[in-house]
Amino acid sequence: MLDNYGTKRIIVTGGSGFLGSHLCERLLENGHEVLCVDNFYTGTRGNIEHLLDNHAFELHRHDVTFPLYVEGDEIYNLACPASPIHYQYDPVQTTKTCVVGAINMLGLAKRLKIKVLQASTSEVYGDPTVHPQTEEYWGNVNPIGTRSCYDEGKRCAETLFFDYNRQLGLRIKVARIFNTYGPRMHPNDGRVVSNFIVQALHDKDITIYGDGSQTRAFCYVDDLIDGLVRLMDSRDDFTGPVNLGNPNEFTMRELAELVIELTGTKSRVSYKELPSDDPKQRQPDNSLAKAELDWEPKVELKEGLVKTIAYFEKLLSA
Ligand code: NAD
Ligand code: UDP
Ligand code: UDP
Repeated sequence: MLDNYGTKRIIVTGGSGFLGSHLCERLLENGHEVLCVDNFYTGTRGNIEHLLDNHAFELHRHDVTFPLYVEGDEIYNLACPASPIHYQYDPVQTTKTCVVGAINMLGLAKRLKIKVLQASTSEVYGDPTVHPQTEEYWGNVNPIGTRSCYDEGKRCAETLFFDYNRQLGLRIKVARIFNTYGPRMHPNDGRVVSNFIVQALHDKDITIYGDGSQTRAFCYVDDLIDGLVRLMDSRDDFTGPVNLGNPNEFTMRELAELVIELTGTKSRVSYKELPSDDPKQRQPDNSLAKAELDWEPKVELKEGLVKTIAYFEKLLSA
């Protein structure tokens, strides 16, 4: 479907979600046509409303667990609820989306003979015993816990991607995305950055789970999208899996303090029970992404939080 101007028609599943909407925007800015495929399970029309008038943007309401017959030049497969609250709401559907959704998108890529990128996750490492996590680490995942529908679903999707590659020669790209934050996160998705900011803006208690000593490394959305696009555009024999995340690690207590400082809230911190299987630490080793994609995150946590807080201030006052 390449036309004379190098414009591609790019299929983005999960395109009305947090990351997907930013990706659609970036691909349009880069001069491509975008087919956004989403069933609005966790995504919203509001995330992509500003794109609907763009003649290069098309929206298709569809559940990826059903076959999809469309045309295109590349597929970014992002469809899947990503926050623990959302993916645990209907865990059977979560695994179906991960696994059957992957089979359908791989089948589509096979028929069209096009590249397909999988939005995998650092959750494939589970509660890691290797720190920071490199792509060689096989992970420490509970197969029957409350997070398993997502973790094992995403692991199985990776297996399918690599078997379609080995067995059928399909061109695949697998990104292992670490905690990402920014504007258009769902205000009620229970993720730590959105929770803390929304609580702070309402002067409500900031809820730290456990003692707050667990760590995460937070990547600003613009950096992450840059990494995904670079991965899709990388040489054909580079499949990944490749870690995409910001290596600067913070405890949840440090994050709470930063949000309190930046919002100037009257909120106090309160401690709640730690959810089951909650990883104690997580930090990407980004060496592979740097070597293969010349990619490194640029946005510091403070700078990204300021932009995210501004987004939520506007959203909550609307
Ligand atoms: P999100 O929940 O905002 O977006 C997911 C999108 O997929 C939503 O628009 C939702 O409606 C759609 N969707 C869900 N099930 C679907 C189905 N069966 N058919 C069609 N569409 C469906 O989440 P996000 O943070 O934007 O995450 C996007 C992708 O990136 C997910 O695959 C997630 O696993 C992965 N990821 C995200 C993070 C992160 O920190 N945000 C980290 C690791 C991996
Ligand atoms: N598929 C799809 N769109 C296509 C081609 C295939 O959704 O354009 C689905 C199809 O329903 C099938 C899945 O992708 O269940 C896997 O396709 P594949 O060709 O690998 O397997 P097969 O059809 O041989 O089972
Ligand atoms: N967390 C927290 N308070 C909240 C929400 C989350 O302390 O209000 C903790 C959570 O227990 C985990 C970390 O923050 O240790 C990151 O949680 P999130 O759901 O954002 O991502 P994930 O656990 O999937 O990395």
